[in-house]
Parts: sequence; C-alpha cells; structure tokens
Amino acid sequence: MNNNLKYKRILLKLSGESLAGENEFGINPTILSFFANEIKKVHQLGVQIGIVIGGGNIYRGLNAEGQGIDRVTGDQMGMLATMINSLALQNTLENHGMYTRLMTAINMSAIAEPYIRRRAIRHLEKGRIVIFGAGTGHPYFSTDTAASLRAVEIQADAILKGTRVDGVYDSDPEKNPQANMFDEITYIDVLQKDLRVMDLTAISLCKENNLPIIVFNMDKPDNLLKVVTGKNIGTSVKN
Ligand code: UDP
Repeated sequence: MNNNLKYKRILLKLSGESLAGENEFGINPTILSFFANEIKKVHQLGVQIGIVIGGGNIYRGLNAEGQGIDRVTGDQMGMLATMINSLALQNTLENHGMYTRLMTAINMSAIAEPYIRRRAIRHLEKGRIVIFGAGTGHPYFSTDTAASLRAVEIQADAILKGTRVDGVYDSDPEKNPQANMFDEITYIDVLQKDLRVMDLTAISLCKENNLPIIVFNMDKPDNLLKVVTGKNIGTSVKN
C-alpha cells in the first residue's frame, strides 16, 4: 500500500448522466473508457475501490408518473437502469485489466452476486473493484443514498462524488459565471443553503456517520488521482 494515499478505501459515485456525454441518453463508450483509465490510476496505487453508478442516462423514477407509470414501478425501472450501467462499467474495467465484482441489491443471480457486506469487504481486500448495482434495492431512494449507505457499510474513508463541475458552488456554475466554489463546507451548510450536493437522505447518513464527501470534476484527467493523494481539488463536505 502506497503511503502517499489520503484515502485507502473509497466509494466512488458516478452519475448515470455522466456516461451519456452530449447525447444525454445511453452510454458513450469513449467516456466509459476514460473513466476506466482514471480508475486504473488509483487502483494501481492500491486504493480499495467501491463504485456506485446512477441510472439517470436511461431512466429516472421521478419521470414515471408523467408517462402513466406508477412511481414504485418507475423506481424499479431506474434501479434496473443502474444495472445496465454497472454491467457496462464492469466490462470496461475488465478490458482495462482490472478485476471486478458486480453486486446487486436486487437478486438477479444470473448476472451479478447478491450484495453481502462481508463478501464485498473481502473482495475489496483482495484488490477487486466492487460495483454496487441496483441502488439500495428500494424505491423512493436515490443512488446517492445507495452510495452513502454502501460507503458507511464498507467503512470507506470517503465518498468521492465525480461530477462535471469542479466542486460545490454557491449557485449553479453552469448558469452563473460569478458562482463561487467552496473548498470546504459543512453538511449543515449544504442542507441549510440547499446546495444539492446529494439528496437530503444521503447527506444525513454521511453526517451521522462522519463520512466525508469530496465533490470533484471527474471529467478532468488525473483528478481522481489528485483526490486520493490529498491534492487540494474539489470541495470537501464534513462536520
Ligand atoms: N432508484 C431507486 N432506489 C435506489 C436507487 C435508485 O428507486 O436506491 C431509482 C430512482 O428511480 C432513480 C433511478 O433509480 O431515479 C436512477 O438513479 P439516480 O437518479 O440516482 O441516478 P443518477 O442521477 O445518479 O444518474
């Protein structure tokens, strides 16, 4: 294990949307491959890596009702969407030479292992990248909450939330060029200022368990590496 590591076990959260690129739908293979390369750089240092990927590039439960589908069914469709992304990511990581396991919160034994916490930790200890699919397995939750839950369960040192902006801002940097980025912010400020780093359930779980969240730009080469080696990029959310 490399001594320059700030975080030795991480939970990386990627949004489904990030996989779509400019198409805003589906999976862009160039982006997948870029992510795999970035993940490989930290895997080679000995960082233990769990990953949760969203499903918003394929389906979001919140949109279901507008389409005459009830919310619970929509959320189940959303959770299946995360499995599609997880399979794509797993395959790409393996093509880049990493060993992986895909664990699912909803039983589908033909394609993924059931999520069992102790087994997940064992995989991590053996250097396998563990992808946690199907969210929490429950409707009305998000993959941000799934990421917080899995991170707490596997005792990750931090959640690394990869986004397409550099960190947490006081207003939307994609709409307001004057927006200011925070280097550090507390969970309470995130909640009070309604900064939408992650949803409320996810933030509360991190706060209660003192689990830092690092929000950073995953689209820039070497950024993931910089975060795990303690370079000052992104925004840290903590107590
Ligand atoms: N979802 C769910 N329970 C979970 C996680 C996800 O019902 O524990 C559903 C929910 O409908 C959500 C969809 O899966 O809209 C996709 O996940 P999310 O929106 O979090 O993906 P992202 O925004 O990160 O792409």
